[in-house]
Amino acid sequence: MPPRSVSPWRGSREAIAVKLRAYRRLMNSEQAARLRAEMVERQLRRRGIRDENVLAVMAQVPRELFVPVEMLSRAYLDGALPIAAGQTISQPYMVAHMTELLELRPGMRVLEVGTGSGYGAAVLAGLGASVISVERHPELAEAARDRLAGLGLALGFAKAVRVVVGDGSLGWPDEAPFGGIVVAAAAPRVPAALPAQLADGGRLVVPVGMRGRQELILVVRRGDSFEERACGPCVFVPLIGEGGFAEPAAARESARESESGTGRRRRWFGRPPV
Ligand code: SAM
Repeated sequence: MPPRSVSPWRGSREAIAVKLRAYRRLMNSEQAARLRAEMVERQLRRRGIRDENVLAVMAQVPRELFVPVEMLSRAYLDGALPIAAGQTISQPYMVAHMTELLELRPGMRVLEVGTGSGYGAAVLAGLGASVISVERHPELAEAARDRLAGLGLALGFAKAVRVVVGDGSLGWPDEAPFGGIVVAAAAPRVPAALPAQLADGGRLVVPVGMRGRQELILVVRRGDSFEERACGPCVFVPLIGEGGFAEPAAARESARESESGTGRRRRWFGRPPV
């Protein structure tokens, strides 16, 4: 069984304090800072991430607070990790690569599709973006909201992220246009609704391909035309929704089972997708 996700930012003040003490017993902030610095050098800079702002923010955002407590010792490993609802927190390199492709400027309005743990949203907000992050699983959205509220106060980006629940494969038209859109889940093609929600000059990054293997696609809006560029292979969990993949019958079945309390959690064999 994959581990249960435990957010250190949920529950009463007392419960939060207990969880924070558990986190601190397992990893103190000096250890975490050292692991983050190593991650930035080995996994990001050496692999070609050049944007110093992205590197600096990723050296600050405490990834250990976004992973389930059982995964703490693996928080800074070079890969995705399982979180609740059969989903993942993305690999640090992929978060950096996608963020760099957005060419963010402070104050830019960004739509993130697939909040997951909230880690990607924290990196975007840390770079000064104003973020709307859409998640289809309400329980993930709620946990990410709590986590981001606590962390935003500590890192100075409180209120920069709004987490909403819905089908992000349709974008978030009420708040469009966006300077950047980042889709953290794989779509069979560029979701039709998204390019039109870019501002002029805006950039959309989305993994496109079949389940289990995709190419990262960058779409840049120039007036009424859209330039597309392939930016490397990747493997993401599927974007489920109108502009993505259909929900598999098995997942619908297991969701129904879960509602009735008999559902089984998804197993990861080998390396989970990002
Ligand atoms: N950015 C996240 C992080 O840093 O933890 C990782 C995102 S995870 C790889 C992909 C997320 O996309 C999952 O949480 C999944 O539930 C979500 N997702 C899939 N289809 C979606 C949709 N149509 N709308 C919104 N979220 C969706």
